[in-house]
Amino acid sequence: MRKFDTELVRVLPDTARMDANGQLSVGGRPLAELASEFGTPLYIYDVATIRAACAAFRRGLAQYSGEASLIYAAKAYASVALFQLLAQEGLGIDCVSDGELFMAHYAGVPGERLVFHGNNKLESELELALRIGVGRLVVDNRDELELLAAIATAEGKTAAVWLRLNPGVEPHDTHAYRRTGQLDSKFGFPIETGDAERAVSFCQSCSALRLLGYHLHIGSQIFDLAPYREAIERAFAFAARMRDRYGVVPREFSPGGGLGVPYTPDDPMLDLTQAAAMLAEWVQAAARAWNLPLPRLYLEPGRSLVARAGLALYRVGAVKRIPGVRTYVAVDGGMADNIRPALYGARYVVLPGRFTERSAEQVTVVGKYCESGDVLVWEAWLPTPQRGDLVIVPVAGAYCLAMASNYNLARRPAVVAVEDGRVMLWQRRETLTDLIAREMVAAPKVTGIEFSPCP
Ligand SMILES: *Cc1c(COP(=O)(O)O)cnc(C)c1O
Repeated sequence: MRKFDTELVRVLPDTARMDANGQLSVGGRPLAELASEFGTPLYIYDVATIRAACAAFRRGLAQYSGEASLIYAAKAYASVALFQLLAQEGLGIDCVSDGELFMAHYAGVPGERLVFHGNNKLESELELALRIGVGRLVVDNRDELELLAAIATAEGKTAAVWLRLNPGVEPHDTHAYRRTGQLDSKFGFPIETGDAERAVSFCQSCSALRLLGYHLHIGSQIFDLAPYREAIERAFAFAARMRDRYGVVPREFSPGGGLGVPYTPDDPMLDLTQAAAMLAEWVQAAARAWNLPLPRLYLEPGRSLVARAGLALYRVGAVKRIPGVRTYVAVDGGMADNIRPALYGARYVVLPGRFTERSAEQVTVVGKYCESGDVLVWEAWLPTPQRGDLVIVPVAGAYCLAMASNYNLARRPAVVAVEDGRVMLWQRRETLTDLIAREMVAAPKVTGIEFSPCP
C-alpha cells in the first residue's frame, strides 16, 4: 500500500492531510464525512489547489515582457461554480461548443474573455458566439472561415479571429488520441501545404473578419516541452512571412494548453511556473528573431489547472476472489464517471479511505458497469478490502466528469468543493427523474414500487 509520503503527496490536493486515525481530509474536511453526507461516488474539488495552480501560471507569465492572459479550457471540467471561481482569479474560458459557451455566459463570464475553439463549429454555434460577443473565434479550417465570413457579413458584425495553425509537430510522449499538432490531424490550417497562408490572405480580403493572431495546440498530457518550442518557432517563421507578403502582424498568440500532470507517484511532474515561463521565453525569442512585436500571450491550460485538485470517492461493494488469479474489488462508480482508463489506458492509483497498518493485498479495482473494460486500476494495493470501505482515486479533476455518461442509466455523481473547512455543493447528483426527463412518451403509473427521486 502507498504510504502517505512525499511521493504520494504529489498526486493529492495541496490541502490533503492525514489524521491520527489514518483518515484523509481535504480543505479541512474529512473525506469520510463528505462521503456520508453526500453519498458516493462523490467528486471533491480542493479550491486552494485550483487557486494555487492559477497563481503558479501567473508567476510564470510574469516573466513575459508583453501582456499575457490565462484561459481555462472548459472541456477539462465544466461547472458554473468553477467558471465563476476562475473568472474571479482573472481567467477567461476556452469553449468548444454552444453548451460550454452557454454555461460560461450563464456563469457571468464576460464575452470578451471567451475563446471559441472547435474543428466543426455549427452555423448555430457561430451565430451564438457572435451574439454573445465572444472575444476570439479560433477558426480551424477553410470551410469554417468561409462560413464565419458569410454569417458575420450577413449580420453586419466583425468577428475577431485567430487562425489555428497546424505546425506539423508531434509530441511523442503522449497517447496518439491526445496528439493534435501533426500534419495528419483534423485540427488546424497546415502551414506546410499553404492552407494557412491562403487563410491569412482570405482574412485580409474580408472586412467582416479581423485577424488578431495565431493559435496552436499540439496535444495534451505532454511532459517534454521541446515540441512546443519547435511549434512556436514554426508559427513565428510563418507569421514573419505573412507580414512580409500581406503586411499582417499578429497582435496575439497562443501556444494552447496540454501541460502534463502526474496521475501516479511514479509519473514525471512539471513545475507550472517554470513551464509557463519557458513558453513565454520561447515566444519572446521567436518574436525577437523575426523582428515581430511581442504579441499578447495566451496560455490555455485545462488539465494542469484542475486535475490534481479533484478526487473521486467510491464505496467498495462486491469483492470477488479468484484464487491464484486475481481479486476484483468492485466500486459504486467506474467508466460512467471515469472512462479514461478504458478509453486510452490511463493509469491511476487507488488509496484506501483509511491508511492502516493492516497489510495490503494487490487487487484490481473495477466499476459496476457492464463492460469487461470497466476497470479503474489494474494493480492497486488495498488493505483487505471489504464491502463498505471507502476508496479514493486522486487526480480525478480533469476529463473524468467531463466525459461522464449515463451508461447503464448511471446517475452522474455529485460534486462538492472544499475550502478552509467549508463545503459547497457545486453540482447535485443526478436523480432517477433526471433520467426520464427527456422521455416524451407517457408511461402508465407504476404501482407497487415507489422510487424515491432523490439519491
Ligand atoms: C483541450 C485543449 C486545451 C487544454 O488542454 P489540456 O491538456 O487540458 O491543458 C487547450 N486548448 C485547446 C485548443 C484545446 O483543444
